[in-house]
Amino acid sequence: MHYFWKTCYFSLPAQRGILSGVLTALIYLLSPFALAASEDTYYDVQYKVQLKPGDDQAQVRIRLVGEALPSQLTLHLNPERHSEVNGENVTVEGTEATWKPEPGSAEVAYQFKIDEKKTSGRFDSLMTDKWTILRSDKLIPPISARAPKSLQSRATLEVDAPDDWNVLAPYNKSEAGIFHLIDPGRSFIRPKGWMIAGRIGSRQDVIDGTDTVIAGPLDKGLRRQDTLAFLGWTLPELKKVFPEFPKKLLIVMAGDPMWRGGLSGTRSLFMHADRPLISGNRTSSMLHELIHVGTGIHGDKESDWIVEGIAEYYSLQTLRRTGGISERRYNEALEDLAEWGEESPNLLVKRSSGPITARATVVLSEVDLAIQQSSNGERSLDNVVTALAAERGEVTLEKFRTLVEDAAGAPVPQLERTFLTGKKKP
Ligand SMILES: [Zn+2]
Repeated sequence: MHYFWKTCYFSLPAQRGILSGVLTALIYLLSPFALAASEDTYYDVQYKVQLKPGDDQAQVRIRLVGEALPSQLTLHLNPERHSEVNGENVTVEGTEATWKPEPGSAEVAYQFKIDEKKTSGRFDSLMTDKWTILRSDKLIPPISARAPKSLQSRATLEVDAPDDWNVLAPYNKSEAGIFHLIDPGRSFIRPKGWMIAGRIGSRQDVIDGTDTVIAGPLDKGLRRQDTLAFLGWTLPELKKVFPEFPKKLLIVMAGDPMWRGGLSGTRSLFMHADRPLISGNRTSSMLHELIHVGTGIHGDKESDWIVEGIAEYYSLQTLRRTGGISERRYNEALEDLAEWGEESPNLLVKRSSGPITARATVVLSEVDLAIQQSSNGERSLDNVVTALAAERGEVTLEKFRTLVEDAAGAPVPQLERTFLTGKKKP
């Protein structure tokens, strides 16, 4: 809303004479932007986390400081991970903790279980005696705050760990080691994305305006420098399609017993150390996860194929465009994916993986060609995914089809339901 009013104000025609000047000023003063700017008040949210090597229970405290505070906060707990919740004016019922903080300062404390084993027997969150890898958006549960719009938060994250431990998260860190959090679009700011702490090694560089850090446990033979070089050559190409790619990026790597694949998060991702940067079938898990980071989209109950297909298709495209694979290898990769995709003709399912994503990639390559052909080469699927990534949030088949047909200027038969469910050839 602020942006809209600001744009309106600055887009008014050049002032002609005093009257229009006065009018402009009046419009500005009456706008919500001006009201909000003059009346916003702030309170501080301090997240304090204590990590002890080998202890998979992190101690968490959330402290609020300010003359005015939200009247009520609701913490949406995961009972398997958050426990011992306590604080003044805090009541826990089922999976919700309701907190009515008194203005001035207030605090809630709880314990968080770090270790989490997936059904595969692998961990996507783990504490060892030398390091820990976890997601800060699991550490701090989703929190809804009841507060007037003009009451805004400022938030920091402070991690108390042994002196020889380094802590990394995808945020600016002060000299004192305090992270200054951002959470665009949220009035109650919460940390998000991957975190790593411990005796770790990291490599950092600014790649096309993105402060990139590759980090992982020491002495594990991680290819930090290779990975940074790979990003140095691919990220600028990726950012042409996803111009709003985060300014900060943390890539966390580790070997067993961590999850043997890639997992994207806010401004960050996890990648198992054994994963090659480019696989034998010429796709790249690293680029795939980076595209998830760059798009920030998720599908509704039948649109995961769009999200996964975009990640896989642009991973191939980025390699082709940067010369990482030749045109011939690119075409071969698509042929292989088409063959694999035949195993799973229906794309309109809840979760896309394996053969579904393979077919989705091929369908998107056809949609891309259809847009290019009917727009005489003026537009491509790039325009569609750039628009999706700018909006972020949920993508549906209808939304995707509208964007595709706008770009193509004509209907695209590959997006008909009968074709997507595998019941009809285009
Ligand atoms: Zn994916």
